[in-house]
Amino acid sequence: MVIRIDNIELSVSDIERSKDFYGSLFGWTFTDFGPTYCEFNDGWLTGGFSRSEQVSTGGPLLILYHHELDDIQNRIVAAGGIISQPVFSFPGGQRFHFLDPDGNELAVWSAVVEEQSELPPADFAHLQRCIELAREAVEAGDSPFGSLLVHADGRVLFEDRNRTSAGDATRHPEFAIARWAAKFLTPAERAEATVYTSGEHCPMCAAAHGMVGLGRIVYASSSEQLRAWQAQLGVPPGRVRSLPINSLVPDVQVAGPEPRLADEIFELHRQYHTRS
Ligand SMILES: [Zn+2]
Repeated sequence: MVIRIDNIELSVSDIERSKDFYGSLFGWTFTDFGPTYCEFNDGWLTGGFSRSEQVSTGGPLLILYHHELDDIQNRIVAAGGIISQPVFSFPGGQRFHFLDPDGNELAVWSAVVEEQSELPPADFAHLQRCIELAREAVEAGDSPFGSLLVHADGRVLFEDRNRTSAGDATRHPEFAIARWAAKFLTPAERAEATVYTSGEHCPMCAAAHGMVGLGRIVYASSSEQLRAWQAQLGVPPGRVRSLPINSLVPDVQVAGPEPRLADEIFELHRQYHTRS
């Protein structure tokens, strides 16, 4: 005889808050059983929110299914969830992990894999220049990142590279671009300009990009790739969590990563982290 999984229980500190969160995001329905327990039903399995003063997180991972990961990821962020692992591929599909308001970790997976496609030649050429700048950065003892600001007519307006080795960890090229654009471009020119960068914007730079009203972003390598490369090189994760650009600036058009440049960028990170 087979005994099936029948119920899943999540420990939460505020049942009403959890009903709002899961109800608004996933359409679950609820039945209250007194002040300390509420049953949820997703139309397939039932489970419960059990109120406890001290929520203990961890344990088996609950994995939900949704075919549009970007869409549900943005909605989870808007509802107050925190993305703990951005979208990554695994055999069979892609998924991401998030934390609910109590810190319970769940995941959403999809069998629909977004194709990694190659970028058009003009974009590719600008990204190659970003990588040259990243190489200059490594040669100067800085982290391997380089970025360009390109006018709607294709002219390169400004370029910079990482300059953090002197001690100011905010000296990222995308941040320098945002400040340059705010000083020298009209709002209309900023909105039509494109920022090319060797590595996807960190949250600080994505916020600056959004605040000064810049347009499209094209990156050669993603934050997800960076995290995987750092793990491979034994580099501990940084203090600031990375977030998808669109979770900070939902309306900015983003393209990347470019699979043809991954090896070259990894090599720069390897050189940077193994330099003596
Ligand atoms: Zn940055």
